[in-house]
Amino acid sequence: MYDVIIIGAGTAGIAAYKEALKHTNNLLIINDGPWDTTCARVGCMPSKVLISSANRAHEMQNLNGLGIRAKVEMDTSQVMQHVQQLRDRFTRATLKDVDLWPSEHKISGRAEFINHNTIQVNGTHYQAKYFILAVGSTPVIDETLKDKLGENLISSDDIFELKQLPQSLAVIGSGVIAIELAQAMHRLGVQTDIFARSRKVGTLTSSHLQTQAQEILSQELNFHFETLPQSYKKTAKGVEITFVENSQNHTLTVDYVLFATGRKSLLTTLKLENIDPQYSDLKNIKIDPLTKQMKDLTIYIVGDAHTTTPIQHEAAYAGRSAIQHCFKQSSADVLSPLTPIGIVFSSPQMASVGQNTKQLEVSDIAFVTGFADYTKQGRAIVNAQNQGAIEIYIDIKTRKILGAEFFTYAAEHLAHLLAWLIDEGASVDDALEKPFYHPTIEEGLRTALKHARRQLSLS
Ligand SMILES: Cc1cc2nc3c(=O)[nH]c(=O)nc-3n(C[C@H](O)[C@H](O)[C@H](O)COP(=O)(O)OP(=O)(O)OC[C@H]3O[C@@H](n4cnc5c(N)ncnc54)[C@H](O)[C@@H]3O)c2cc1C
Repeated sequence: MYDVIIIGAGTAGIAAYKEALKHTNNLLIINDGPWDTTCARVGCMPSKVLISSANRAHEMQNLNGLGIRAKVEMDTSQVMQHVQQLRDRFTRATLKDVDLWPSEHKISGRAEFINHNTIQVNGTHYQAKYFILAVGSTPVIDETLKDKLGENLISSDDIFELKQLPQSLAVIGSGVIAIELAQAMHRLGVQTDIFARSRKVGTLTSSHLQTQAQEILSQELNFHFETLPQSYKKTAKGVEITFVENSQNHTLTVDYVLFATGRKSLLTTLKLENIDPQYSDLKNIKIDPLTKQMKDLTIYIVGDAHTTTPIQHEAAYAGRSAIQHCFKQSSADVLSPLTPIGIVFSSPQMASVGQNTKQLEVSDIAFVTGFADYTKQGRAIVNAQNQGAIEIYIDIKTRKILGAEFFTYAAEHLAHLLAWLIDEGASVDDALEKPFYHPTIEEGLRTALKHARRQLSLS
């Protein structure tokens, strides 16, 4: 019997494996498919490469705000090759690492449970005291539509494989992945239409910032809000889509349809119903939110397989902390939860840290909102990136920073600063004691913090 078997060698599984090695050599890691992680192959990294090329192309074509008139000739024919080259570089680094692991620790194949302490892989049974399920997730695809449209219907897994940028693209969905990829494609000259069931874009829960995001992104992108295609037909030219908007019938032909309506857990591949029939419905799986342990079992579920925050660093952290819990078996020894931070790499970027507006509104906590308008922010004006705003939420009683939402240029950096302050339990007063260099985008944080502090002195 092994001490621990880790199923899935993505970000969470790899982190769990490395942590487990500190405690035992009697372990296995099993992976179905490539060993190079979703993040490096079809997630964080290739998407950011595409976005970087797109944003640079956009900046070069929009220099007016900097007093420059330029005639820019764009050749985007190498963009997909560039994405694939860098993607391969990132995946190679992961594979090189995996190659160094002892071969007796690794099995390629799909694992399935036989009972609570036995799994089967490639026809052989393996037993362990602990299991870490780190099987991740996969894009939701309408299989009937896939049969109809074939290779013209793509997911975020397929898009990075395209040999060339398409001429046109219909994106279904307006969540994080949909917005990031749609805006990148649009900025690279792809005629992009976004179909969204609601008006919500990305992740912002502050109604003010969400409205701003809808308005600002709509100025650039071709959204069809509260509109989904009614029919899809494969034609010699691509895919013909029909839809009704403002009571008018429309027809649109695109090269590809990108389905970006969400991802589903791969826990379904594990035959968890062999542990307990109730697990044939994943909704019946209950895990401790801190330890990630399944109730009454020595099984832990980490990473995207079971989460409301499918984020790379959280997957790694959960993989590590689950192993620590297995080997110490005292909940007091578990790492404390991470301060939440989520970033959408749109332009302007969206981000949230700590508790967001929606969470605070349903809580009992009395808070004030410090606001900074980035259309008037000095450095943002200098950089011709003066759009959007930020909100910082402060506890009226303790004066502590509870959270923040951002819709602005460079939000990734502002969000990090604030997440670290929240992590330290900083109050609005502590934060305002910190140095703020001039002129920087970070000065906007001080504006919002001061706005909050003024309200505290009045309350
Ligand atoms: C387009 C896109 C962009 C993203 N951008 C970001 C970003 O900018 N920042 C960020 O933080 N996050 C981002 N993410 C999310 C991030 O990629 C995930 O949170 C992270 O990769 C999850 O890691 P994981 O270990 O849970 O799963 P994975 O890396 O998917 O690993 C799961 C592994 O388990 C294997 N497996 C599945 N079933 C079985 C089985 N039955 N037996 C054996 N093995 C099995 C799978 O094949 C896979 O190898 C993005 C995701 C996508 C799709």
